[in-house]
Amino acid sequence: MTHDSKTDEILLDIKGLRKWFPIKSGMLTTVKSYVRAVDGVDLQVIRGETLGIVGESGCGKTTLGRVILGLIPMTEGSVHYDGEDIRMMTNRDLRRRLQIVFQDPGGSMNPRMSVRSIVGEPLTVNGIAEGAELTQRVADLLASVGLKRDHMNRFPHEFSGGQKQRIALARALSLDPEFILLDEPTSALDVSVQAQVLNLLEEIQSKRDLTFVFITHALNVVNHVCERVAVMYLGKIVEIANTKDLFSKPAHPYTHALMSAIPEPSLDKVARRRIVLSGDVPSPANPPPGCRFHTRCPIAEEGLCDVEEPKLESIGEGHSVACHFPLGPGMTLPILGDDQNPPEDDDMPNTVLL
Ligand code: SF4
Repeated sequence: MTHDSKTDEILLDIKGLRKWFPIKSGMLTTVKSYVRAVDGVDLQVIRGETLGIVGESGCGKTTLGRVILGLIPMTEGSVHYDGEDIRMMTNRDLRRRLQIVFQDPGGSMNPRMSVRSIVGEPLTVNGIAEGAELTQRVADLLASVGLKRDHMNRFPHEFSGGQKQRIALARALSLDPEFILLDEPTSALDVSVQAQVLNLLEEIQSKRDLTFVFITHALNVVNHVCERVAVMYLGKIVEIANTKDLFSKPAHPYTHALMSAIPEPSLDKVARRRIVLSGDVPSPANPPPGCRFHTRCPIAEEGLCDVEEPKLESIGEGHSVACHFPLGPGMTLPILGDDQNPPEDDDMPNTVLL
């Protein structure tokens, strides 16, 4: 998604962000260890852009989103929104300026509330509108997401998944925010409905000067909607680049593995060769030393990758990677054996969990 008025102005500035969840045990509930869901993330979001954050489930992307929005407290680091520390912002200010749309819109709606109440609630809670004015505002919001005025008198169970996501979006837009975090907004929808919702998001963004952070496990969706993409693995960003560069010259072995799992005929034969990663994603409660990906990386070098953690370093304009041996343009990961490179019509499930 692009926007005409986009500048290079940093809207969201995240530095050294950590979110560790304590694991408690015993009668005294002493802290045994921590789940390091987000473990040292530096990231900047430019006003007007759509930034994708991708990775397998459990990589920390959803936790990162919730910390950015102030929904859960950070353990360490800082998040500045438009120059302001989010910890110093009031809840009201945060919710007015930063909104979220969840994967399961139905789950975040009270089934006993009408659409008018659901969409209008932020306006009544903040004392912005009531009565006839509220009704008109809700009607306008519903129209902006392609729903009709008389939908406001219905209840959530009367709508399809795609329509519920439109209602959730109308509610998120009610306070006229500048920033919306989209957490897997289309992954519960059918493919045809996904496309409609993505088109709607694009239209709304260009009309309303919005900045989006799009959290997803689906790289092919990111390719269509995001200008930049950050790839996360076990609580860290391992690669970030503009979308075109990430898809044409991915540098991190994990990004290569993710890309190889995209079922998209437009990708060339080499890129489509499925890279099967060995082993499971390690637990964020006990991450491996050195590079966190070394237990699954086909090119890990003993004595270096398992000892020294690679830093996120620039390898080109706007393109950074955290790897001791980043892959250059055109390079591919070694395939360890025939069983690791099944024929294209083989429908064996991929071990990269997308
Ligand atoms: Fe693989 Fe080593 Fe790069 Fe980590 S640092 S991704 S283990 S090559």
